[in-house]
Amino acid sequence: MTIDVVIIGAGLSGLAIARTLQGQTGLTVMTLEKSRGPGGRLASKRIQEMRADIGAQFMTARDPRFQAVIDDALSVNAVAVWSPVMGKLTAHGLVHSPDQHIRYVGNPYMNAFARFLAEDIPIDTQQRVQSVTQVDAGWCITTQDTQLIARQVVLTSPVEQTRELLPETALHDMLYGFQSLPTWTAVVESSQPLLTDDGRVINAAFGDGQWLDFLSSEQSKPNRTSAFWVCHAAPAFSQSHLEADAAEVARQLCEMLKQHLKFQATPILAHRWRFARPADAARVAQKGAVQLAPGTVGLQ
Ligand SMILES: Cc1cc2nc3c(=O)[nH]c(=O)nc-3n(C[C@H](O)[C@H](O)[C@H](O)COP(=O)(O)OP(=O)(O)OC[C@H]3O[C@@H](n4cnc5c(N)ncnc54)[C@H](O)[C@@H]3O)c2cc1C
Repeated sequence: MTIDVVIIGAGLSGLAIARTLQGQTGLTVMTLEKSRGPGGRLASKRIQEMRADIGAQFMTARDPRFQAVIDDALSVNAVAVWSPVMGKLTAHGLVHSPDQHIRYVGNPYMNAFARFLAEDIPIDTQQRVQSVTQVDAGWCITTQDTQLIARQVVLTSPVEQTRELLPETALHDMLYGFQSLPTWTAVVESSQPLLTDDGRVINAAFGDGQWLDFLSSEQSKPNRTSAFWVCHAAPAFSQSHLEADAAEVARQLCEMLKQHLKFQATPILAHRWRFARPADAARVAQKGAVQLAPGTVGLQ
């Protein structure tokens, strides 16, 4: 049987596409995901019966179509507004840095938003796609268990992983022109407040690009009670520690928090995202999905 569309990856991109196609009658759609559940980088990790968001920390809605999805999720409490007191690490220390953004988070953890998006979407989990090759009927998708033939394939894995699946296509140059940066993420625990130099309590802070990218308190997000803080290291730190031991990275980031922010925390764990974000921010709109069909190649 030839499937109309196979979607590879059930992260935000794959789920958005699956939801859009779901409304189109007569199309057979299959979503394949290598992990045990949906979400990808909308990730939350269970720790001591609680959870911490170890991927995206918040979302803003700049497109009315995404705002409509957020509104749906808000109406069933799968998403909530997060209003942290924002700070920024500068050469002069940590300063208060308010802005006008409306920030949304999954409720009560980020992956809950992915689970909301995945409702009613059949996802074949623990199916790692190994290759995608062009055949007469369209595309042959090979996983560890099976082979499928699809008229169209939507690939939403990070670009470096996508190019391993598509070694020889007309997309070769575009795929190899793209580079992702890594992020080491540490979950740390602290009951101490994070303070600016003039004593103001801060819930989340952007980094200086040197060692810190973003730091946020889980407790400041709606419906969370843990004393966990999530610390995303800056790309430079993450790259230079790429193959380091996770426990050592968590320990080092705690040291940096103490040294630069006078913030005392205990390391809990660290997670390495090899492909966290595009190196070229201008290509941010191209990181999600590439559409391939026989005879037509283009970006969405
Ligand atoms: C540390 C970090 C912090 C971030 N912070 C923010 C933030 O604050 N705000 C924000 O808006 N964005 C943030 N982002 C970015 C945001 O998380 C991503 O842009 C978004 O989640 C990407 O969704 P996606 O579906 O395109 O990719 P992914 O979420 O990466 O989804 C791809 C899916 O494909 C699956 N997959 C990969 N290979 C295969 C295969 N061979 N076979 C089957 N399945 C496969 C993966 O398991 C994954 O589920 C952050 C990302 C990271 C890593």
